[in-house]
Amino acid sequence: MQLPELPAYVNTILRFVLMLLGAYGVLFLLSLVLWTIRDIRSRSRDVLLQILVTLLVLIFNIPGLLLYLVLRPRETLTEAYEHALGQEAMLKDIEERYICPGCKRNVDSEYMVCPHCATELRGRCTRCERPVNLNWVVCPYCGQPQASKAAADAPAEVVEQEEGA
Ligand SMILES: [Zn+2]
Ligand SMILES: [Zn+2]
Repeated sequence: MQLPELPAYVNTILRFVLMLLGAYGVLFLLSLVLWTIRDIRSRSRDVLLQILVTLLVLIFNIPGLLLYLVLRPRETLTEAYEHALGQEAMLKDIEERYICPGCKRNVDSEYMVCPHCATELRGRCTRCERPVNLNWVVCPYCGQPQASKAAADAPAEVVEQEEGA
């Protein structure tokens, strides 16, 4: 009932396979750690946090990585920057277009007159009667020059451009 002894070459093959598996495991862990380092560096400038996260994945491997994926900052630094830029632009847009110059309250972009202080927000074209902004020098619908009070302090460059054309 004794098992036949394994030939020497089977032993060699087994050892070789084990070595391959070991190398694969090390490479796999290394790539996990490298990926994590790259990812956390794109999300945080905090060096201490970067080190902690690297150690977490190095020590706990896949469970550590899963934990990191759950807890990592939601946005990359680039995304956060773009997000902030977008919000700033949006705020600026709202400030410029939808605030009454008279009472500084929010108004709808469609309003002709401020409902709070009766400041004139938009005028009507003298020819086609469509709503036009007060700082427009000409009606964009029919081409009628606008003789509103804002036309006087309209930017001079608009006139210059017309002369040049
Ligand atoms: Zn107002
Ligand atoms: Zn018009």
